[in-house]
Amino acid sequence: MKDTFKHQGLRQKLVDVLVIKGIQDKQVLAAIRKIPRHLFMDSSFLDHAYQDKAFPIAADQTISQPYTVAFQSELLQVKPSDKVLEIGTGSGYQTAVLCELGAKVYSIERQQELFKKTSKFLPKLGYRPKKLIFGDGYKGLKEEAPFASIIVTAGAPFVPKPLLSQLAIGGRLVIPVGNDVQTMTLFIRKGEKEFEKYEFGEFRFVPLLEDKN
Ligand code: SAH
Repeated sequence: MKDTFKHQGLRQKLVDVLVIKGIQDKQVLAAIRKIPRHLFMDSSFLDHAYQDKAFPIAADQTISQPYTVAFQSELLQVKPSDKVLEIGTGSGYQTAVLCELGAKVYSIERQQELFKKTSKFLPKLGYRPKKLIFGDGYKGLKEEAPFASIIVTAGAPFVPKPLLSQLAIGGRLVIPVGNDVQTMTLFIRKGEKEFEKYEFGEFRFVPLLEDKN
């Protein structure tokens, strides 16, 4: 598990690319500058780790494109000590970004292989989410609600109701909604039953799967 000057230089270049693409949040950029993304990937893709691209990880899943991670993280507006729920732990890269932003992170993954691998891996890098859960993200995590924000990192065919109801008042849900292509969508909870909705263009994710856990 090595992080060299070369990797650090490549990360700075990646950050420059993200800035050109419109990412502005200084904390988010600092997190991406710091986290060794190459260590979250299979060895066959190490050389590509700092391209702004998604890559395969275990169990037919993908590590999200850095731009997508940055875009979603920026929309969340995480403040230190915020309780944040992530659906789709995957490689743990987005989880690490949330940890760097100072969040208390809860993250759910439905693929056992990834859940096990990432549960072991994150602490090795010094990242300690509050809880990693093997389960179904459609249900959210009622026992730990309300959350200051919730991020879904797989394409959701519809917006799961439990996720909206587990937001704190003022809380933010960032979720890509759609089947083949997803529209990045932000919900802000304004009251018990009141939500504002904003849409931010198209992205492509692996699907958020139903009824598997
Ligand atoms: N944040 C991850 C993205 C991984 S891809 C990263 O950057 O590496 C999306 C992940 O969502 C996959 O690991 C997939 O197994 C998981 N997923 C799909 N449906 C899910 C569900 N219903 N509940 C929890 N996780 C789910």
